[in-house]
Amino acid sequence: MTLVFRRRTGHKYSYLLTYYRSIQRIEFFINPRHKDVVLTRLRLGKCCINAYLHQIGKHPNGLCNSCNKPETITHFLLECPHNETCSAVLAGCNSLGLSPTIDIVLSDSRQYNIITSTLSRKI
Ligand SMILES: [Zn+2]
Repeated sequence: MTLVFRRRTGHKYSYLLTYYRSIQRIEFFINPRHKDVVLTRLRLGKCCINAYLHQIGKHPNGLCNSCNKPETITHFLLECPHNETCSAVLAGCNSLGLSPTIDIVLSDSRQYNIITSTLSRKI
């Protein structure tokens, strides 16, 4: 968010500037931009997952490097036994009482930190 304030005398604009700066800080601590970017990419399916990379000609076969199955978003987050993020997401589902489906995982705000903190590669 970019705000432009005209220089004027008086308290109105300085008060607004302080107010908006405090909101920006709060938004940053609650939801940093890189987490939003990662989650949006996962939701759209347009990310550095091998199945998508294969679709755009950037990966030879689209398979998971560990278990040789198609590496889709679902495989990456919920099915791959060799992926640290997958293990953490499934453990999070168990502890939070969530069904381990891709729609629920990508829509539950409590899973955001689990996903973004355990990623071991660029998404
Ligand atoms: Zn795998």
